[in-house]
Amino acid sequence: MGWSFFASFFDRSKREEEYVLFNRDDHMRVAHTPAEIRRQLNTLRNHKTIAFVPTMGCLHKGHMSLIKEAKALADIVVVSIYVNPLQFGPSEDMEQYPRPFERDAQLCAEAGVDFLFHPTSLYPKSGPKITLKATGLSDCLCGADRPGHFDGVVTVVNILFNIVQPNFAVFGEKDWQQLAIIRRMVSDQYLPIEIIGAEIIRETGGLAMSSRNRYLNERDRQQALSLSRALIAMQELASTGEKDIERLKIRAFEILDIADITPQYLDIRHATSLKRTRKLTAHNNRVFIAAQVGSARLIDNMPLTIPLLETTP
Ligand code: AMP
Repeated sequence: MGWSFFASFFDRSKREEEYVLFNRDDHMRVAHTPAEIRRQLNTLRNHKTIAFVPTMGCLHKGHMSLIKEAKALADIVVVSIYVNPLQFGPSEDMEQYPRPFERDAQLCAEAGVDFLFHPTSLYPKSGPKITLKATGLSDCLCGADRPGHFDGVVTVVNILFNIVQPNFAVFGEKDWQQLAIIRRMVSDQYLPIEIIGAEIIRETGGLAMSSRNRYLNERDRQQALSLSRALIAMQELASTGEKDIERLKIRAFEILDIADITPQYLDIRHATSLKRTRKLTAHNNRVFIAAQVGSARLIDNMPLTIPLLETTP
């Protein structure tokens, strides 16, 4: 089946606001306004459970794994695609952020998504006057490098939650800090939504999949591989019983230096409080990294576990 088939298919399905899969009865409905998606879901929510996957589009296998998780959790899967202006800083890649909507819609339809919410805007023209603010968990890591970023994230996720009103929402562990902040938002705001974390999906070679990987040229890509390699090297060292944070970091820097990468941060923290650790503890150690590689800002994280023997007194 050639591209021309899909192209003509898209023309038709776009008009119908529905993506119907070839040879299948399934169909995915597309909504462009909050009122539309609410209307579509309202008749269903009394007798069906809803799992929600918020994204900014340019979907890859990482997003697809969240959708798979969502399908296993609930009767209905809703995916949103919205590039949220509130979470981008003035010098960030908001304008050039890739928006291949037709391709994304097809991927969602193939993955069995029931509703795709693709709003043009979620804020009044004059900008939102009431927003949420994330504090504490958002002061470190990406929050320190991207002031206001997590305020934008919690504000838009809260709006999306209000619109979709899901039973479950699935977020990737790739954005571990975001996941921790959203869990805290749901708890602080008493939202009746269960947050599910889904594991990081990686390219062959270990690079965490990201919509921003498409900014990488061949040289950048080689450099980018050093991020996951450095974290794996730390995992290996931790598995020998090394608890000293500085020695673990030195191991990572050996690998990053060879690739000529200076990370924005390389930090070992408690997985849920995100507080810095002085020494690896029995549980919940996580290493976080962010680095600018070419024109892409990349992030990654992994658990660090010391052998059980080392943790017994
Ligand atoms: P984004 O479109 O980048 O805002 O991401 C939407 C969701 O997909 C977030 O919950 C991300 O954490 C998740 N995600 C992005 N990349 C990956 C990945 N490689 N593995 C797992 N989840 C991911």
